[in-house]
Formats: sequence, structure tokens, C-alpha cells
Amino acid sequence: MPNWCFNTLTIQGPKQEIDYIKDRLNKPFSVLHDSWNMDTREMEVKETHYSAPVFAFWNIHSPLEEGITMEEYVQQPSRLGIDPQDPEWFAKEVAHAKTQKDWYNWNTSNWGTKWDVAVRDDDKYPDTRLEEYKSEGEDNWLVYVYQTAWSPAVSVLVTLSNLIPNCLLTLNFEEETGWGGEYEILRGNVTELMDWENRCRDCDELNTMEYCENDCGEICSSCNYMGEADLEIAKECQTHKIYLDSEHVPDYRMEQVNG
Ligand SMILES: [Zn+2]
Ligand SMILES: [Zn+2]
Repeated sequence: MPNWCFNTLTIQGPKQEIDYIKDRLNKPFSVLHDSWNMDTREMEVKETHYSAPVFAFWNIHSPLEEGITMEEYVQQPSRLGIDPQDPEWFAKEVAHAKTQKDWYNWNTSNWGTKWDVAVRDDDKYPDTRLEEYKSEGEDNWLVYVYQTAWSPAVSVLVTLSNLIPNCLLTLNFEEETGWGGEYEILRGNVTELMDWENRCRDCDELNTMEYCENDCGEICSSCNYMGEADLEIAKECQTHKIYLDSEHVPDYRMEQVNG
């Protein structure tokens, strides 16, 4: 499994563009997928339907627009076989990917991630949702949440931004291990507003999570919450033993402090 990246995308702008993009992102489509059949134990090509995809990279930019056929797109990627010792290895791989028509290379080159976030028809608990839609006078916005594999898919948002040139896109993302950031995109131009190595889940402070040198665990230097700390070790720690109280330790762990 990849590390997931949690994205919140806000699109704000004139009503006409907001309504247009909301409809476009949710437009029905179908894609062929090469998938494993448990019964026959063979790969087989199946059609996946998206009748209300909510937010689909496919609806922002699809291979069909470039004249690639579904048969070419469903293929598994071919390996170029560049020697990993070659100092130009990465650049050559990227250049190769851009010339390819298979789903993996096409998606990573054009979307910046390998999988779409569109909601499939058989998906009962989708991670992709339209969280907010407001269309009232001057106030027009959309808020989407979705998860991408490994990193925020910025390339596809640049394309999205160019479809609605008078809208401001704000992407807030956080990867599973804690790093994250905030980008603003206007007319295809990306501005990084902030980024962080880690964020405290208790007080939301950025870059305050530090591993205690006495091994208490990773503790926020701003709120000093001891929820996940090793309490036995903390009793001996000069830095953290002062936080072994009901304010910093959750109730269910206080027993361990008093015991
Ligand atoms: Zn400590
Ligand atoms: Zn904190």
C-alpha cells in the first residue's frame, strides 16, 4: 500500500465558472481496467463505471483528448530498462514516461499521480467527497476532499486551474507520516503558501513534534501533550516528568502515572 496523502481543495470564484466546473468534474464516464480475476486467476480487462464521480481527474484531462485509445491506455507499462547507475537515470525515465500511452505512465506524467480519485459506482464508502458547495451572490465556492497515493497531484490541478481562469484554487494537503503544505493556484501558477515537516494533532502547531532524547517518544514542544508518550520513561525524564498531570495525560492513562 502506498502512503496516502489527504487533500482538501477549495475552489473560489465567479458563479458561472464554479457551476461549470462542478458539473464537469461530476460528468459520467467509463474506463477499462486490467484487473485480477480471483476465479480464473488471470488478468482480465473490465469496464469500470463512474456515473457520478464527484471529482475526477479524468474529467479534467483524459488520454482520449490526446487521441489515445482505451486499448492503448489499458496496457501495463513497459519497462525502459535504463541502468540505475546511469546518472541521467531519473531524467531518462521521466522523458520516457511522457511518450507512453499506458495508464501508469500517462497518469503520472499528466496528473502527477498514478490513480484517479473519481468515485466508482460500486464504491460504498468513497474517500472523495464534495464537502461544501456555496452559490449565493458573490459567495461561490466548492470544497472537495480526496486521497492521492504518495503525494498531492499538483500537475492535474494546474490543468484544472486553466479551465477556470478566474477561480482561485487552494490546496491543503498532509501525507500520512505528517508532512504537508498549502498551495494556491491561479491561472496555472502555483504558489507555495506554507509547508511543514510535521504537525501536532493536538494543538495543530507546525514543526513542533520532536523525538525526546531520553526516549519518551515524539512529543510536541508547544502543548507537551503526553497522549502517546512512554509514561514509565517520562517519569525519569527531566524535560517531560513535569507534564505527567491530568492536563497533559489522557484520563485513561492517568492510572499509569499514579501507579
Ligand atoms: Zn522526555
Ligand atoms: Zn501540540
